[in-house]
Amino acid sequence: MNLDAYRRAAETFQTELMREYYQHYAGLKDTFEIEPIYAGASELFTRDAVQALRELDDGMDGNGKGNGDARRQARMLLDFAVEGYVGEATKAVEEELARTEAGLRIEVGGERLGFREAPVAQANEPDAGRRAEIERAVLAATREHLGPHYRELIESQHACALELGWASYADMCAHCKRIDLWALSEQTAAFSAASEASYPQIVDPELRRTLGIGLDELRRADLARFFRAVEQDRHFPGGRLTESFADTMAGLGTDVSAQPGVTFDIGSRPNKAPRAFCAPVRVPGEVYLVVAPVGGWDDYVTLFHEGGHTEHSAHVDAGLPFEFRCLGDNSVTETYAFLIQHLVEDPEWLSRRLGIDDASELVSHARAQRLVYLRRYAGKLAYELELHGGEGGASRAGGGGASRAGGGAGDGGDADGRWDSLAQRYAELLGGALRIEWPTETFLADVDPGFYCACYLRAWALETHLRTYLRERFGPAWFESPEAGEVLRGLWRDGQRLDAEELLGELTGERLDFGAVLTDLGLSE
Ligand SMILES: [Zn+2]
Repeated sequence: MNLDAYRRAAETFQTELMREYYQHYAGLKDTFEIEPIYAGASELFTRDAVQALRELDDGMDGNGKGNGDARRQARMLLDFAVEGYVGEATKAVEEELARTEAGLRIEVGGERLGFREAPVAQANEPDAGRRAEIERAVLAATREHLGPHYRELIESQHACALELGWASYADMCAHCKRIDLWALSEQTAAFSAASEASYPQIVDPELRRTLGIGLDELRRADLARFFRAVEQDRHFPGGRLTESFADTMAGLGTDVSAQPGVTFDIGSRPNKAPRAFCAPVRVPGEVYLVVAPVGGWDDYVTLFHEGGHTEHSAHVDAGLPFEFRCLGDNSVTETYAFLIQHLVEDPEWLSRRLGIDDASELVSHARAQRLVYLRRYAGKLAYELELHGGEGGASRAGGGGASRAGGGAGDGGDADGRWDSLAQRYAELLGGALRIEWPTETFLADVDPGFYCACYLRAWALETHLRTYLRERFGPAWFESPEAGEVLRGLWRDGQRLDAEELLGELTGERLDFGAVLTDLGLSE
């Protein structure tokens, strides 16, 4: 295989795909034509290509061949090819899902609502009864119209893993992404166990203050409203959103208005996606941060998160190989996104940048929200290991987090029985994590491809380590220190060459540890 030619074609594919994504979701183009982009790149994702890259990668593992970087590059290209192989196999069903979902309407109290508008409608709905009505309609539509497509999608992902010679989809992802998913699940299960007793004490008062209900009355339908933190809106005007991001980056020594290749797409446009997103079309030379600000804390959270991705991409060294600029462990870019996002709940930043002198309510709210997310994703990882773990589910040699002995959903024998028992496990694990009644209907819809939940979990841990390091070295107002900015720019220049573990090891010599997250949340003994 000609690796240089493969890299060039891979980068062209990525660029075209990202440009199409940007133009469609920024509202510049109605159509979303990814089929021709895949068609032009089909030779990248053949079984032969995957096989050749796997042999290259296997060769790197034996007898110390190749330096560390060559070994990293081989694994990243294998991951890219495998994702593309699965993408080719599932493209049709994914398009069908997107089409069905975009056209779905639900009826709530005599009013018709787009299926995709439901989470926003729930977040903006003060009436708990109506939020529950929206939820019922969403779950019914999921079961009736989307369920069969999701089942086909997951079955197809599993079949790909077996075709390519892995024992399961989980094994394939763990290998290609160099993440020991089972060890991670043990760590996050330990985090959940350690935060178990404090969870109601942290979440219940915040629910009562913001929604007027306790944890015992909370329903899943209320979560979007809880996270929306509408009572904080007065502190977060839409007009100061992009300015406060630019000021923050200036404090770190980066003038965003003078950054080559970074475009802030701020204007409103009829078909622009309501949520901010970052589109790294070329890394580092062409990065878009798309935002349609309306104001409110949630807007700031999203813009600062996507702004973290944007700054990371824009600072990557143009001289790095394609793999390190565009591929690698996404736990790393999510870490930078969470680091910048976290500022909008940091009392020091809130005081200095927005003049909020008493941020205690916002800080308590953000803490409760973070704990909900962490526990939810810990539950998700445990569940997805059962879903994608093949025979024996998550209970793998050497342990396997929160799984039952004897292997999860395989018991039923027949296929329908297996799906039913997975749906039960989903509701048990997620409901148990958050101590609320959890529906079974979303057991296949609430799953991101490629164990992305593991990237978020690792990013929450790494971000905590990195933020602690910056505070210890540069003080609580580290975000106003150009020297702290220099540390970050040094990390950003490296793209995703190092994975989360390696990055932390080089930065502080520590190991990724959820105990640090417990401490950060004030939950360690
Ligand atoms: Zn992100």
